[in-house]
Amino acid sequence: MPIQEPSKIEDIPQGLCKGLEGILFDIDDTFTRKGKIHPGAFSALWEAKKEGLLLLPITGRPAGWADHIARMWPVDGVVGENGGFYFCFDEATKRMKKHFVVPDPAVREQDRRRLDNLFRDLQEDFPTIRKASDQPYRQCDLAVDFSEDVNPPLTLAEAQEIQQRLEAHGATTKISSIHVNAWFGDYDKLSTCKLFFQQELGIDLEADRSRFLFLGDSPNDVPMFAFFPLSVGVAGVHRFRESGLMGHMPSFVASKEGSFGFEEALGVVLRKRLP
Ligand SMILES: [Mg+2]
Repeated sequence: MPIQEPSKIEDIPQGLCKGLEGILFDIDDTFTRKGKIHPGAFSALWEAKKEGLLLLPITGRPAGWADHIARMWPVDGVVGENGGFYFCFDEATKRMKKHFVVPDPAVREQDRRRLDNLFRDLQEDFPTIRKASDQPYRQCDLAVDFSEDVNPPLTLAEAQEIQQRLEAHGATTKISSIHVNAWFGDYDKLSTCKLFFQQELGIDLEADRSRFLFLGDSPNDVPMFAFFPLSVGVAGVHRFRESGLMGHMPSFVASKEGSFGFEEALGVVLRKRLP
């Protein structure tokens, strides 16, 4: 089945922008560009905050980073480690709420040990793989680095072999351009996002999804693109069009990549909200 062609971000209907209550967004290569957050993107986030929009980054990045993001960025919370948890910081009480999908720390520790053992087994067949550089700051998942800091990098086919090996041991996995992530449990970014809305805001996202916009860039974001009618890709999303990995394209697309596309998209949306 052919996948739909996204419309230009300028064509996003004004009525939908006016009815918007929040923006959910991926971080790597959506909010960042080549690993850096550019000032225009960060300013756009503040502008959206001033507009009273709910802001929620949804990322595969680790708990250690999420603590910083929830505390210091102008956001209402963060979903991290591919849905392993959400954190939100209460400004009034100065308390960080940490909700783990697997609530018992002892079970999480046990899971981490199982993942460590799986990793050691994998290293026997793939001696060049390493744990990702942000692994020490993770609470729930294992990130196997196959092409970020390892030299020479493994092929995508080898990464898929690693993925299959992890899945054969009961792990849930996700593959990105640099890491294979593995965890125990059937949660993902979308399910934990729904949990955040239900528990923290009393909103049934299933019913109210049209009041929120999602921004992303890659195959990892496909379930979110498929779920939110108001989905926006930064220009980098075109790179994956022919890969066979984009089962669902976003409805709208920015002309620029990463941070610059994020700034562009929020600029259009915020302008269309003006009276
Ligand atoms: Mg991304």
